[in-house]
Amino acid sequence: MSDLSRPRQPKIIAITNQKGGVGKTTTAINLAAGLAMIGHRVLVVDLDPQGNASTGLGIEVGQRRLTSYDVLLEDAPISQTILQTNIENLLICPANADLASADIELVANEKRSFLLHDALRQREIDAFALDFVLLDCPPSLSLLTVNALCAAHSVLIPLQSEFFALEGLSQLMLTIRTIRETANPNLRIEGVLLTMYDGRNNLSLQVESDVRETLGDLVFRTVIPRNVRVSEAPSFAMPVLTYDPASKGSEAYRALASEIASRHGASLGLKQKV
Ligand code: ADP
Ligand code: MG
Repeated sequence: MSDLSRPRQPKIIAITNQKGGVGKTTTAINLAAGLAMIGHRVLVVDLDPQGNASTGLGIEVGQRRLTSYDVLLEDAPISQTILQTNIENLLICPANADLASADIELVANEKRSFLLHDALRQREIDAFALDFVLLDCPPSLSLLTVNALCAAHSVLIPLQSEFFALEGLSQLMLTIRTIRETANPNLRIEGVLLTMYDGRNNLSLQVESDVRETLGDLVFRTVIPRNVRVSEAPSFAMPVLTYDPASKGSEAYRALASEIASRHGASLGLKQKV
């Protein structure tokens, strides 16, 4: 139920695929940067013990005093974990290796699936005036991912444009259906995103046509090309959008950000383009 005494609540999008290396973290970082650069207030929640989203957004390990682990396991208010990145309007709740044991530690907790849901609805978060929260999930359907799916309004599923792209998708869809039936009935699919697409390669073209035929409108119009600048950016602790704004990768992530922002534009109130 919406609480009228509170300001508009952010759209929460879980970026999920139990396969590793498909572009979840890259999408979390760059979609977040794209949304922030058109004036939206964005929080990335790093839910992967590898902490790649934190590193990729310039947060050094030593700065991660309170992390998503503390939110889930130590009852820390999420507002106290939030750090400003080098990009205006872009905030992060970081992660570190502590999170690796979270799954086992959470099993005994009765509210284990709703900890992130509850954290993201704490009153203190209103002060950040967020428009979007992006949840960067680990490569598994573990309790961390379940927390993300219970907390989110929608799921964004990156698929690598390769032969086995659709493999594993039915298991993810089944998990989403189960979460809908048991915990989060309004969970929507935000979209399926083709990543690491190579337009010169017949295989990419074939995968795209198969995926569009199978999933239809669920697939974003925007496709993310394979682009070396995208893969270089994290080692400079930057999104590709600031590392090389003119690259094909930046162009694609800006297009994705406007595709998503325009969908949610009505409910967010239109923001001035900067
Ligand atoms: P996940 O979070 O799903 O495990 P990542 O986002 O970490 O996947 O991406 C896996 C690897 O692929 C990383 O090294 C990343 O830099 C690289 N990568 C992701 N997207 C692209 C792209 N569009 N072009 C080139 N390399 C990419
Ligand atoms: Mg990742």
